[in-house]
Amino acid sequence: MINRQRIADEFFRLASIDSPSFQEAAIAVYLQERFSQLGAEVAFDTAGAIIGSDSGNMIARFPGTRDGDPFVISVHMDTVSPAENVQPVLNDGIFTSTGNTILGADDKAGIAELIEAIEVLQENKIPYGPLEVVITVCEELGLMGAKEFDFSTLKGQRGVALDTTGIDRIINRAPAANRIKIDIHGLEAHAGVCPEQGISAIMIAGKAIANMSLGRVDEHTTANIGTISGGIATNIIPGQVSLRGEVRSHLPERLQQVTEAIIRCCEEEVYNSSVVVDGKTRHASMAIEIKEDFPAMQIAETAAIVQLVVNAGKTLQRPQQIAAAGGGSDANIFNGHGIDMVILGTGMAKVHTPQEQVAVADMEKVSSLLVEIIRNA
Ligand SMILES: [Zn+2]
Repeated sequence: MINRQRIADEFFRLASIDSPSFQEAAIAVYLQERFSQLGAEVAFDTAGAIIGSDSGNMIARFPGTRDGDPFVISVHMDTVSPAENVQPVLNDGIFTSTGNTILGADDKAGIAELIEAIEVLQENKIPYGPLEVVITVCEELGLMGAKEFDFSTLKGQRGVALDTTGIDRIINRAPAANRIKIDIHGLEAHAGVCPEQGISAIMIAGKAIANMSLGRVDEHTTANIGTISGGIATNIIPGQVSLRGEVRSHLPERLQQVTEAIIRCCEEEVYNSSVVVDGKTRHASMAIEIKEDFPAMQIAETAAIVQLVVNAGKTLQRPQQIAAAGGGSDANIFNGHGIDMVILGTGMAKVHTPQEQVAVADMEKVSSLLVEIIRNA
């Protein structure tokens, strides 16, 4: 049922429209026209103005041809860079770029697969229920578009995101993440003249970091201090240093514990650092900022949405592999808003590199899986 030429042409058109994060307007115009053509009612939200992108998130609603709860489908229209003048090349059934840019199969393979699935449902008059397609902006920049999306406009409770590598893969779990910023304040003093009157913020940070457990903390949890900056000159005891890091965990309580442990390591060093200057005791201090970057997604293998995909795979005699992800994606945000959403492989490979690629045969397979999912949703 899948039309190989049509899905390849669709992907080619999508990949040929540059759409780095913040500059999605051109592809938004194309998508609006394409989804309207397919019979969707298309609207944009105001996320673009809030985050500084030239387009908002797009929502395309299909009434469907039978009754049912709306089924949510999530993809993103932005790509990572370099994405200037992307020229897709098709060789032996595999799309790549010319090697100077990314290809943008992340996430345009998913968009092409979705469009083809809808074409197939319609031309074969296969009954399907209402669809709510959300095409976000700035996914690649910390899920900025999805975070600003107004979820009260969605009626659907279940769905799929088309946004991971491989095919016949279901991602049902992904970690939550905290972003941590710690500013440590010591006391400046001339390093050569009166070092005993200073408190080195860098020394405090160094001792604190040495005591932290970082890296893969446990089976479910990772932690990292990613940047450190501070100090002014070699002859000044540094009065200020700033650390930025993150913790990710599949388990909310471990996310909390490991985040707190990092803070404690800093507190211990800070509260033990003081000097007496002119008879007065001066103490180091610190300021902490913890931001939830994205919530975890945890969907049971027995959940209806997982079974829907597994059964679609069975119909096509393609067993689906259920796996956990290490990163966050828009699906984390959807799940955080109470929508049961798993992520499906789109066939994209070597993403976020100039060697990015996707095979047309894989896109066909994902599209046929989608047809099965949507007709049974
Ligand atoms: Zn993606």
